Amino acid sequence: MPPAASKTRSRALSAYDRRWAAVLARDKSFDGTFVLGVVSTGIYCRPSCPARKPLRKNVRFYATCAEAEAAGFRPCKRCTPKAAPQDANAAKVVDACRQIEAAETSPTLEELAQGAGMSPYHFHRVFKAVTGVTPKAYAVAQRNKRVREVLKGDKSVTEAIYASGFNSSGRFYAAAAQSLGMKPSQFRAGGANTDIRYAAAACSLGLVMVAASPKGVCSIMLGDDEDALIRELRDRFPKARLRVGDRQFAALVAKVVDYIEAPHGRLDLPLDVRGTAFQHRVWMALRAIPVGKTASYAEIAQRIGQPDAVRAVAGACAANKIAVVIPCHRAVRSDGTLSGYRWGTARKRALLEREKRKR
Ligand SMILES: [Zn+2]
Repeated sequence: MPPAASKTRSRALSAYDRRWAAVLARDKSFDGTFVLGVVSTGIYCRPSCPARKPLRKNVRFYATCAEAEAAGFRPCKRCTPKAAPQDANAAKVVDACRQIEAAETSPTLEELAQGAGMSPYHFHRVFKAVTGVTPKAYAVAQRNKRVREVLKGDKSVTEAIYASGFNSSGRFYAAAAQSLGMKPSQFRAGGANTDIRYAAAACSLGLVMVAASPKGVCSIMLGDDEDALIRELRDRFPKARLRVGDRQFAALVAKVVDYIEAPHGRLDLPLDVRGTAFQHRVWMALRAIPVGKTASYAEIAQRIGQPDAVRAVAGACAANKIAVVIPCHRAVRSDGTLSGYRWGTARKRALLEREKRKR
C-alpha cells in the first residue's frame, strides 16, 4: 500500500495508478514529473527506466529526486533519473532538427525556441549542448544536403564533390565553416585540431562508447574493455583532441543506450560520417530498414540502384563506424543467415532478436 493513501483515499490511489501505468508503459512523457523508489533495491528510477520492472508492492513514488534521496534511495545508474531534464531537452532538440529538415526555408531561432517552449537564448544553448552545433549550422547543413539531393541526377557532379577530398560532407563544411569556426582544410586533415568528445556507458551488450565531433556523432562502438575502445578511437582520429564528455554529453550517450535497450523507429541525431559516396548510399539504405526487419546485401544493392555491387555493399556495411544508429546489423546474407559483425556476431544476433520482439 502506498504511503500517500491515507488522506483522500480514492484520489490518492488513482494518482498512484496513473503513475504505475506510466511506469509499466515506460512512458517518457512522465520523465521529470516523478521518480519511483524501489524498496527492495534502495534505487530510484525515472518512469521510463529500461530495466526490468519492480514488483508494484515495492514501489514508492516521489515528486523529485531530492525527495527520493531524502527517503534514502540512490539514483539508478541505468536511467540516471537526475539527467532526466537534459534527456527531455534532447527530445526537444530532435524535434527541432525535424522541423528544420522539413521546412522549405529554415525556421528562425525564435520559431524553433517557441516550439520547444524555451527562450531563444536558452534554446540556442541547449541545442548546441546536445548536437555540438548551432541551430543555424544545422540548418545550413540541411540546405546543402538538399543541394546534393538535386545534384544526384548527375552522378559525375556528386562524385566530383566527394572526390574533392572533403569526404561526404564537403559542401557542408565549406558552408558551415564560419558557424563552426573551423576551416574545411582542418576537416580534410582528418579531424586535426577538432575536439572529439567521448564517453562509455554500460548496456546489456557490454560497453557502448559514443564519440562526437562538433558536427555530430562520429563513432559508436560496442565492446567489453573501455581502454581498448579508447585506443581504437585514438587510432581513428589521431589528430583530434579527445576529451571525455561532460554531463550533457552523457545525456546523448543515454539516448543511445535507451535505443539499444528498447529499439524503436530511428535515432535521429546529427551524424558526422566520413566515407565515399557509395558508402553513404549504402548507409542511407541501412537506415531505411525498419526495426525488426533485415535485408540481404543483394537487396540493398538493388535498392541503391547497383544490383551488381553486392560485394561492395557488404564491404560498405563492414566499414560502418556508427553501430546501431546506422544499423549494419540488419544486413544479412541472402539465405537469411548472419554474416560477420565488427562488434561480434553474438551482439548482432542479440540486437536482431530484441528488435524482432519489439516490433
Ligand atoms: Zn533506472
